[in-house]
Amino acid sequence: MQNEITSLLVQRRGHFQMESGYHSEMWFELEALFEREEELRPFVSELAKRLASHGVDAVCGPMAGGAKLAKLTAAELGVEYFFTERTEQPGRTGLFPINYALPQELRESVRGKSVAIVDDAISAGSAVRGSYADILACGARPVALGALFVFGDVAAQFAQEKGLALEGIWGMSFGMWKPVDCPLCKLGLAVEQVAAR
Ligand SMILES: [Zn+2]
Repeated sequence: MQNEITSLLVQRRGHFQMESGYHSEMWFELEALFEREEELRPFVSELAKRLASHGVDAVCGPMAGGAKLAKLTAAELGVEYFFTERTEQPGRTGLFPINYALPQELRESVRGKSVAIVDDAISAGSAVRGSYADILACGARPVALGALFVFGDVAAQFAQEKGLALEGIWGMSFGMWKPVDCPLCKLGLAVEQVAAR
């Protein structure tokens, strides 16, 4: 199963600045993932099965990221689906500059629920961290993070800090640094901004 899922990824090498502010030497195009929904289906089922063991009664994913996967996973589990929306904070710099929040009309209905936060891929986890903070602010209880792909170990550290389960179908080591520690910056290589996550 692990080998098959990587065939759904398009990998690029270079010098990237991710949404989180971290730099990396690899980037993965995930846009094609849901064009091959039939091939994706068994991995969604596997993710849902693993998340079920954590007593999840809602699944939340970031819009423009894992929201579609979150919706499929919620349907598989027979639980409610929520999403967060991404907002840029003008002038905010440093790591994790982007906010994620549930829309006003969903904030009350998530209250008291045990929530799994699902994204297609988690590296530094900008979207899952932002969603985590807002789910707490809504009075719900995040219990698990779920993803098809987990790149590097930053997400595992975050999960451990917050007492969350982390369920990833496929994980790999991943060179990822704060800009100040980035070896590619030290080499003077131009950096490419990449969108989500
Ligand atoms: Zn760099």
